[in-house]
Amino acid sequence: MDGNTDILIIGGGMAGLSAATALAGTGARIIVLDKGRGPGGRMAARRVVIAGEQVSIDHGAQYFTARDPAFRTTIAAWEQAGVAARWPAAGEDAWVGTPGMNACVRHMAASLDMRWNVRAERLSREGALWRVAAGEEAFTAHTVLVAVPAEQAAVLLADVAPAMAARAAGVTSAPCWAVMAGFAAPVGYAPDTFRADGPISWAARNSAKPKRAGVETWVIHASPQRSRELIDLPKDEVAALLLADFFAATDTAPAEPQHLDAHRWLYAQPEVRKSEGPLFDAGLQIGIAGDWLHSPRVEGAWLSGRMLAEAVLQERLASTS
Ligand SMILES: Cc1cc2nc3c(=O)[nH]c(=O)nc-3n(C[C@H](O)[C@H](O)[C@H](O)COP(=O)(O)OP(=O)(O)OC[C@H]3O[C@@H](n4cnc5c(N)ncnc54)[C@H](O)[C@@H]3O)c2cc1C
Repeated sequence: MDGNTDILIIGGGMAGLSAATALAGTGARIIVLDKGRGPGGRMAARRVVIAGEQVSIDHGAQYFTARDPAFRTTIAAWEQAGVAARWPAAGEDAWVGTPGMNACVRHMAASLDMRWNVRAERLSREGALWRVAAGEEAFTAHTVLVAVPAEQAAVLLADVAPAMAARAAGVTSAPCWAVMAGFAAPVGYAPDTFRADGPISWAARNSAKPKRAGVETWVIHASPQRSRELIDLPKDEVAALLLADFFAATDTAPAEPQHLDAHRWLYAQPEVRKSEGPLFDAGLQIGIAGDWLHSPRVEGAWLSGRMLAEAVLQERLASTS
C-alpha cells in the first residue's frame, strides 16, 4: 500500500479522527496510523462470549457528555446514523456509542484511509518531508499530526520537536484498572451505575446501556489511587480483588461471575494542567492533539483534534494567500 501522503496522523482515537474528519473536506490526502487492531482507542469495547452468547463490554470510556455546540451537532449526526444514544442512567446529558462505545470512532474511521496494526516508531526529516518508520513500513508526509496519549507523544516527539515533547512530558496520566464481569443472574444491586470516592470510583451495568445484548455484564473501575496500589499485580488477581471491593462498596451479596477479566489502562485519563505552547509548528509542519491538551474526556479529545485541524487549515490558507 502507498505510504506517501500530504497529512499523516499518528493515532486514530477520538482526537486523531476529529482532526482527520475536519481536514478531509479540504481535498488533502490523509492517512491515519493506529497501533490498535481496530477502532476505539480509549473508547474501547471488547467482544467476549459468555454462556454461548457474544456480548460487547465497554472497558474504557463509559459515556460522554457535550457542552460545546459543534460537538453537540456532531453527536446529533451520530445519533441519526445509529451509532450513539442517550443513556440517562449516567446523567441527563450522557451519551454512549451503540452498540458499543467504539461505534462513534468506527463510524468516523469508515470514510478515512486507516492503517490499523501500524505502530509509528520513529519520526525523521527527509528533505522537506517527514518520514515515519513503523515496523516494516515507512510513510512520507508533508505534515505529521501526533494524536496519542501524552506519555507516548513525549517519546515520539523527543528528537524532532523538543518543545512539544516537553509539553507532553509535563503531563501525567492516571492509571485505571477496569474489571469486566458477566453473571448468569442479575446482581443484587438495583441502580445501573455506582460512583464513589473510595477504591471503586465507578461501576456500571454495561448490559443496561442502549442496544446491548446478552447476559448481565458489569464494568468496575478502580480509583487512580487503588489502581496505582495494584498496578503490577497479575490481572486475574486484580479482577478478583476489585470485584470483592465492588460488592463491599455497594453492600451487595457477592455473586459468582461466569466471566471475569481485567484490563490495565496505564494512561487512562491525563491529570491535565494548563500548559502553553503551539499546537502546530508551521515551519516544521508538525502538530499535536489529544485529551491531554484540552480536558480528560471524549469531548476534550474531539475539541483538541478540531482545534489542531483549524490551526493546520489557517496556516495553509495563509501560505497560499
Ligand atoms: C478507563 C477509562 C475511563 C474513561 N471514562 C471516561 C468517561 O466516562 N467519559 C469521558 O468523556 N471520557 C472518559 N475517558 C477518557 C476518554 O476515553 C479519552 O479522553 C479519549 O478517548 C481520548 O481520546 P484520544 O484520541 O486523545 O486518545 P486515545 O483514545 O488514547 O487514542 C490514541 C490512539 O493512538 C494510538 N497510538 C498510540 N501510540 C501510537 C503509535 N506509536 N502509533 C500508532 N498509533 C498509536 C492508540 O492505539 C489509540 O487508538 C476514560 C478513559 C479510560 C481509559
